[in-house]
Amino acid sequence: MRLRRAGPRCARPLNCGVSRLMKRIVQTIVNSDRTRRVDVYEAADGTFGFTHWKWGASEQSWFTVGPAGSRCDSAETALREAKSRVAWASDGVLVEPHPLPLQPLAAVEYDEPSVLTEYVCSYCVPQMTDLERAGLKALHARAKAARSDTTRVRDMILREWSGQGHPAVVAALSAGEAAFREAVRDRVLRDHPELINRCPKCNRIARTPRAKQCRWCFHDWHHEQEAARG
Ligand SMILES: [Zn+2]
Repeated sequence: MRLRRAGPRCARPLNCGVSRLMKRIVQTIVNSDRTRRVDVYEAADGTFGFTHWKWGASEQSWFTVGPAGSRCDSAETALREAKSRVAWASDGVLVEPHPLPLQPLAAVEYDEPSVLTEYVCSYCVPQMTDLERAGLKALHARAKAARSDTTRVRDMILREWSGQGHPAVVAALSAGEAAFREAVRDRVLRDHPELINRCPKCNRIARTPRAKQCRWCFHDWHHEQEAARG
């Protein structure tokens, strides 16, 4: 069997069979707005190749566009070939091998208030008050109780961990989970605005206060800070 090559005029939608001979994706490179991607893959016969994809906004789907490469002896060779033949690829960002579909940045839902709520409640625990921590712990226990299989376990979790014996926790949670988490977010960020870690490229919130790679556009700023330090 021969690997199919996608030419410039061949724009096939996803799951048209191009990937049939592909054993696994080894590497993925994306451009800055993630509307183009190159997947370096290992083929079933042990050779390597690359596929160049373009996002079709109206179809909401990836299409293969030229050039493509196949029958390379290693993933490195395929990557090198992709970088020499795909115009944007040498400036592209290497991301984790990404099974389709990875969506373009503009298509990814980004609701900053809820991103910040998750960020603070997960990664800013040291900056919380005892009551804020106790409230989140109680919410965690309630969620765990709701998932438990038996009434006995559920009741035990609720009795021991849900904060029901602590009037301050009960009062803090009285307006509901969402309101409590948002209040924690607002209070922590008001007192510690320095905790907000934004991507220097797309300005969105990074995964953690110390992250140096963007979870949204994949921009990596480890080296920028090293350069700034001289
Ligand atoms: Zn970014």
